[in-house]
Amino acid sequence: MASSRHKGARRKKTRVVSWKSLAVNAALPVAGTVLVVSAAGAAAISPPPVSVTAVASAGTTIVSSPFEALSVSRDLVRTEEGLELESKIARPEASSEGTKYVLSNVEVRTSPSDDAERVATFRVGSEITVTGQTVDGYTQVLNKGLERWVKTSTLGDERPFGSVSCPRGSDIEKRFKPAAVKTYRAVCQAFPQITTYGGWAGRNDHAKGQAVDIMVTGALGDKIAQFLMDHRKELGVHYIIWKQRYWSVRNPSWKAMADRGSKTANHWDHVHVSTFVDPGD
Ligand SMILES: [Zn+2]
Repeated sequence: MASSRHKGARRKKTRVVSWKSLAVNAALPVAGTVLVVSAAGAAAISPPPVSVTAVASAGTTIVSSPFEALSVSRDLVRTEEGLELESKIARPEASSEGTKYVLSNVEVRTSPSDDAERVATFRVGSEITVTGQTVDGYTQVLNKGLERWVKTSTLGDERPFGSVSCPRGSDIEKRFKPAAVKTYRAVCQAFPQITTYGGWAGRNDHAKGQAVDIMVTGALGDKIAQFLMDHRKELGVHYIIWKQRYWSVRNPSWKAMADRGSKTANHWDHVHVSTFVDPGD
């Protein structure tokens, strides 16, 4: 029967109190044990292991604590009333102040020191939460809800170029050299509205995996061309063709080109960018 099955677990007039308010006048057990006392003499103890119980003078008291989720340290504090069992609960939640991006793979450490224990690695391009604390060239971050530390120099406000695959796919990258991959990803990231790219083809720099065609017209194409010029070093841009004009890192101003006969051939419907082999070349 249900009633008899539960009889053993039932207790009358139980009351839950916090650790802090539990005062025990009797001699206390070895530090680190948990004690719970009821007037009936039955001790309910949580969590194991437990080796000692103590007797309280009055009241039916069950002490509960969220042991499962939190780490708890207990100290015995001598007060005028006697000894008080005091808990200090370390809460895993920590305040967050904002987000940053990881600029290069970085070790996550337990304290702000090169010698501190490494507990994880943040990969380049990851978005992470920072608390706002900085110490000695380290920034405090959250990793699995815990406060950890990484080198401040590895964090930035913007996701680094080329660290994240383009949502429209990476098939096009298979025949690209590294600078073309980075350029493709960077444009994709900065201009998500662009949906069509041209990659490998059997002609000029396309045949070498060193050119990307960005299908676009009008003012947005102007913006993309400017973006490529602004980031030419980090992307490894060699030259750009856009609106029947040619621009090169070695001669960085627009030069008019001869009419090649069509809108596409004259680059009115796409920005062509040729890259060096590697970014930074
Ligand atoms: Zn092209």
